[in-house]
Amino acid sequence: MKLSLIAPPMLALAAAAIFTGGSTTEGYAVLSHNLSLSQRDFRVNNNLTASGANNNTIADSNFPDSSGFVMAMWKGAVEWSSTLHGDGHGDPTQSGSLGSGAANFDPSFQGETNQIGNLGDNICSGLSGSSGGTLAFAEINSSGNWRMRFYQGWSWADGPAGVGFSEMDLQSVATHEYGHCLGLGHSGTGAATMAPSVSPGQVGPRSIHPDDIAGLQTIYGAASATKPIISGMAFIGSTLTITGTNFSTNGNEVWFTRENNVGSGVPLKVFNAPSTGNGTQIVVTVPSNIRLGGDILVKKIGSSHSALSNPYPADLSSPICPAPSTICFAFNNSTGNLGNLSITGSQNVAANDTILFGSQLPTGQFGIFLMGQGATASFVGNGVFCLGGSQFYRLPIVLTDQFGFVTHALDLTNLPQGANVVQGETWNFQLWHRENGGQSNFTKTIAVPFCN
Ligand SMILES: [Zn+2]
Repeated sequence: MKLSLIAPPMLALAAAAIFTGGSTTEGYAVLSHNLSLSQRDFRVNNNLTASGANNNTIADSNFPDSSGFVMAMWKGAVEWSSTLHGDGHGDPTQSGSLGSGAANFDPSFQGETNQIGNLGDNICSGLSGSSGGTLAFAEINSSGNWRMRFYQGWSWADGPAGVGFSEMDLQSVATHEYGHCLGLGHSGTGAATMAPSVSPGQVGPRSIHPDDIAGLQTIYGAASATKPIISGMAFIGSTLTITGTNFSTNGNEVWFTRENNVGSGVPLKVFNAPSTGNGTQIVVTVPSNIRLGGDILVKKIGSSHSALSNPYPADLSSPICPAPSTICFAFNNSTGNLGNLSITGSQNVAANDTILFGSQLPTGQFGIFLMGQGATASFVGNGVFCLGGSQFYRLPIVLTDQFGFVTHALDLTNLPQGANVVQGETWNFQLWHRENGGQSNFTKTIAVPFCN
């Protein structure tokens, strides 16, 4: 199969310098620059109109409000980030998930622009022609100022699943070119994303190889144990609650994606944000002029590579419910396990698709899901009844299956009389069930916030 070359980065320095940074025993090669925290932004000029360049129109909650070329560039960059981007979805062709770098490196998506920009504007865009076998190239100078260009004259595709035998995978090429931008040259390891060529139909470079990770970590260091990490988010009204670890007590910056065609790529920042819970929670008011579908990052105090968190995707065009939390633990039941309770479906009142799921329960036993807003614990039977102190409601009788599982679809339009769930409320749930050998017990109790 004919190989198509991905051009080496065009350096302001001698091009030969690209190939002198690495050794022959390790595949990767490093260039002479790294990206400071002020150069982590990237933007996309959605002007690549070539056939197939925008054929991915399947929405992905990890890349809100994007598709086609824009989404492919976003995916290509965040594959290098320190930990999973959201839930990691974005490359269903491989077992690995997006966000594989495990280094002190994370990029910041800064939306769309109609500019092509100069070096340092960090813009990905298309340009006419095909330049022989060259698909795309990154222009970089020794200070790490860059921009990236993709030739129109190719048959591109952007998945999200595999691409056709004659098509070039945009996401793969984006991942490769962004590797140059962050400081990697071409690798001698054939399976690496930073290998110099890619074949039509090939999607492997979407997922960075251990050799690429080794190169990345050589430049930025393996992810520090003190690096801030965002692990979740809630958004109600204009209040954003960021959960994670390693936030500074005071002086955090929260970086938002700017709305399209505004600004110069510098993230929209909320300064001096304090944290609570020993550096695990930051609450800020969301500023105006943000791109509602974007990434959010937290920079703790300091300017080292390890001061910046992972990019966490958020669609702020609608509320994001806080995750359910445990408010009472269970006691061992007759199986020797702690009765567990979780939900599947959403916490969206309008969607009305919340399903209660009990597990680690005695098999073939009757039970009743309880719901209420009290949270006073008392000992009942072999367990802990947690919904005291307020009125509570009994849902229909259920029976555990042969695996000790039980589910109940919570129909919010058909609740017991007096129970009425509206958005913004939090309701507590637990399962009361019979034990093997008599008596009764309870699962743990979870508090479930409801939103729209
Ligand atoms: Zn290259």
